[in-house]
This record gives sequence, C-alpha cells and structure tokens, in this order.
Amino acid sequence: MPYCKSCGEEVPAGASFCRKCGAQLNRGAELVLASWGERFVAWLIDMILLGVVLAWFRLPGFNWVPMMWRGTVPHWVPFVDFGFKNAVYFVYWTLLEGTYGQSVGKMAMKIEVAHLNGGSIDTVKAAIQSVGKAFLLPLDCVLGWILYPSRQQRLFNYLSETVVLRKFG
Ligand SMILES: [Zn+2]
Repeated sequence: MPYCKSCGEEVPAGASFCRKCGAQLNRGAELVLASWGERFVAWLIDMILLGVVLAWFRLPGFNWVPMMWRGTVPHWVPFVDFGFKNAVYFVYWTLLEGTYGQSVGKMAMKIEVAHLNGGSIDTVKAAIQSVGKAFLLPLDCVLGWILYPSRQQRLFNYLSETVVLRKFG
C-alpha cells in the first residue's frame, strides 16, 4: 500500500490528495513499501552469497582472521551476535546499500533501502540500519513488527529513518 510522504498515512494508489493531511500526491509522492516476504527473499539471496564468501575464511591461510576476531569481541551478550560472519554482513550491507541503496538480494528483488521521504540514503544511515540486521536480527525484526507496523520498519530502520521500498524503473 502506498503512503503519504508528508504524514505517513496510507493512501489509495493513484489518489491526488492525502485524506489525512491534505498534501498533494503527484507521481512519485506515493511510496510503495516492499513486503516482508520480498525482503526475506532478498535477505536469503544475500545469505547464500555471503555463505560462499565466508567459506573462504575456513581455508588454511585465511582462517586466522575469524580466529583473531573471536578473541577480541564479547560473545556472551543475549540476543546479540558479534561473530566474524556478522561483521562481514555489516560491512557488506553498509557498503552496498550505502552506495546503491541495494544489496545483491535487493537488486534481484527490485527493492531498495530509502529515506522515509523516498530519497537515497548515505553511508551513515546505511550503517545504522545494518547494525540491527547484522548483529541482532531476530530482536530487530520482532521489535519492529510490534512497534512500527505502519511502515514495516525494523527497529534499526526506525532509528535510521529508513524504509524498504519497491523500486520502479
Ligand atoms: Zn498526508
């Protein structure tokens, strides 16, 4: 369902004014949220891709990197996972989504991370929203489902003022 850029109210597709705040809705003013299903498939594609990348770090000659990582980060915090693979996820999403608004999975699904107003995000916003999905994904999603259902935000989408939108054209 599209929503109004000004107040966040859901609007019927093709409406010319927002019923709640009266803002004019021209083409491009209404943003269409990606569904949780589309986002899940995009995530799955990213996980498969990153799984291949991470397999390299189990080879002799590379496996000292995760070993060293394990020695330096806490691994007892509940709900939080600071493993080496999580750090790789974080860098991957921050760089790709900070640069293109899309990871490889999101490109495949034709969805993108955007600012609440539909504009593109910078690396800082990309990094903030990546913290949640890289290091504390289940909690990030569950809190988002409970607290921010109207724009389908994870907690760290909310904190970074980002949404995931369908990308047209
Ligand atoms: Zn409105």
